Amino acid sequence: MTDAGRRAELADSLVRVRERIARACLAAGRPPDAVTLTAVTKTYPASDVLLLAGLGVTDVGENRDQEASAKADAVRAGGARVRWHFVGQLQRNKAKSVIRYADVVESVDSVRLAEALGRAAAGREVPLEVLVQVSLDDDPARGGVTGDDLWRVSDAVTSSEGLRLAGLMAVAPLGEDPGAAFGRLAVVAGQMASRYPGATTVSAGMSGDLEAAVQHGATHVRIGTSLLGMRNSLR
Ligand SMILES: *Cc1c(COP(=O)(O)O)cnc(C)c1O
Repeated sequence: MTDAGRRAELADSLVRVRERIARACLAAGRPPDAVTLTAVTKTYPASDVLLLAGLGVTDVGENRDQEASAKADAVRAGGARVRWHFVGQLQRNKAKSVIRYADVVESVDSVRLAEALGRAAAGREVPLEVLVQVSLDDDPARGGVTGDDLWRVSDAVTSSEGLRLAGLMAVAPLGEDPGAAFGRLAVVAGQMASRYPGATTVSAGMSGDLEAAVQHGATHVRIGTSLLGMRNSLR
């Protein structure tokens, strides 16, 4: 496809996604600008990020360090400035690499990972924003903290100078009504914001369930498929 063709396609899907967000905000009685769109561009090329940035997208999500690192370099070389969100499971030995380009790491779910990021981010001029990933199904394989580990991980983040605890991230469980799961997340988000003033980000909602997430207070939705198209792999 030509660049102009792809641009038109992305512009079209961006309008639709923004309409869905606006309608969900209206239904929830929230202002239309209460929700930030993070475009999840994994498996798609840097050229798509540049087109999206040209269309006004400010936040981009990736889930693999190698891919994200190369893409961030290419996007910077292409002259665009976007905020990079790392949203995938992260090995501690990748902390140093990720903090080189990431503005936000959304998938912190262990004290050891928080500490590794803290060491890597020490001396950063702008602290790395951290979201603690919360498990909504108690399945450790899908990532996320359960129970009081949330507070242990949050404390590890707030005790690192290079990190700023910004809030929570979650993925809806498979096979459950996402509304029920995001309702539980909203309760936890309330507790978080009262314990840690300023930690008010709630990153929840993907292509299939953004409406339910907005209904339950998401401040950020992470949209891949509905914006960029079906990915070949399941990630
Ligand atoms: C891939 C991914 C998304 C986007 O999912 P879509 O269903 O394609 O919108 C959101 N969050 C995370 C953590 C992801 O890995």
